[in-house]
Amino acid sequence: MLLNWFEKTPFGVSRARFNPGDGAHSQAPAVATKPRAQMRIGIPKTLNLWSTHQFWIGFLEALGIAKIDFSSDTSEEQAREFGKGRGTVDCCYPVKCMSGHYGEFLARKPHRKIDVLLSPMIYSLPSYLHGHVAASLTCPRVMAAPENIKSGFQKEKDMFAEHGIRYATPFVALGDRPIVPKQLYEGLRDFIPGLTKAETKKAVEAGFHALDTFNANMRQKSREIIEQCVREDKPCLLVLARPYHMDPGIGHGIETDLQAYGYPVLWSQYLPTDPDMLEWLFGADIATGHIKSPLDISDVWPSSYSANTNEILWGAKVAARLPWIVCVVRLSSYECGMDQPSYSPVQQIIERSGTLFFSFQDLDSTKPAGSVKIRVETIAHYLQKHAGEIIQKKKIDNPNGFPLVRQHEDSKP
Ligand code: SF4
Repeated sequence: MLLNWFEKTPFGVSRARFNPGDGAHSQAPAVATKPRAQMRIGIPKTLNLWSTHQFWIGFLEALGIAKIDFSSDTSEEQAREFGKGRGTVDCCYPVKCMSGHYGEFLARKPHRKIDVLLSPMIYSLPSYLHGHVAASLTCPRVMAAPENIKSGFQKEKDMFAEHGIRYATPFVALGDRPIVPKQLYEGLRDFIPGLTKAETKKAVEAGFHALDTFNANMRQKSREIIEQCVREDKPCLLVLARPYHMDPGIGHGIETDLQAYGYPVLWSQYLPTDPDMLEWLFGADIATGHIKSPLDISDVWPSSYSANTNEILWGAKVAARLPWIVCVVRLSSYECGMDQPSYSPVQQIIERSGTLFFSFQDLDSTKPAGSVKIRVETIAHYLQKHAGEIIQKKKIDNPNGFPLVRQHEDSKP
């Protein structure tokens, strides 16, 4: 049974290949030194790369870049071996971890040496809630992280230059597609030889096509999981977190531990948005004028500016309405200023629906294996004891019938 799409992310699929503003921000010579067909570009697998990786792969492949490498998952060893002494002032653990990713690229053996380290400053994200929320911005700390972390490698001398690596950090608003070609052309023309505006535009289209296709596949897989739960009247779990919590070094693989108990795990970023399902979940709210569209979160989160936070709030609304999501697990990093205001609303939305809610806040470099194990066992115990009754109660609370079941039965020969 398909339990979790996590292991099917392109990071895993492409492991063999990947294993480890504007141009004014970048450390670049006037002319690139290698033709594209020989160029190896390294991308730190951190922060917003966890939800935009496919864009960068599609974009760079369309430009004919020979090799696109991602760094490894975050780990203690990575930080100790490659990031030590490179730290900069930032309280956020996911940002601090970038030092290890940068250092990992710098420490590569000559045959796998990268030519360009590409660490984009992503200002906004292509969220599926776009058009229904105020904005889809990234966390400011996340956006500024490439500039912040870079300074840790330029304290005494420029470590990038010392390793023959050019550092590119284009400023890009991925949530505003029309301006992306201009931003990436200006941010990368000094790094990619012969880059033109026209081919940048085409490459951006290819990047968004790759990202949209990947996201659609993930939503389809989530739908299949939900349909299976509906057919078998079985429970599943929803994780509400930022995309970088999929990194086992940031989220500590808590959802994987839960999945080992046999419960399928969904992530809010990839919940299905099929019209029939949205109508079933939110049709009554729209009919009463409570919300304007199924993706409207103004009823629970009026300051809808942060893409990740918006998706977490919408995921909470879905979990509250979908009977087979019997448990929500909230993950958050140490002293996350973006997440803190949403703790209470999310918890209230979930718990008022009778859905189990467990929260792992303040995740940082220390993986408290013992306490995580005990808490995972506790969650599994509650699931085993209460999942069935939660499904039945939520089904009674939802007077709209169950179209997923009908749809499945109708499609039988
Ligand atoms: S404030 Fe929160 S979202 Fe922003 S970088 Fe820190 S942990 Fe991540």
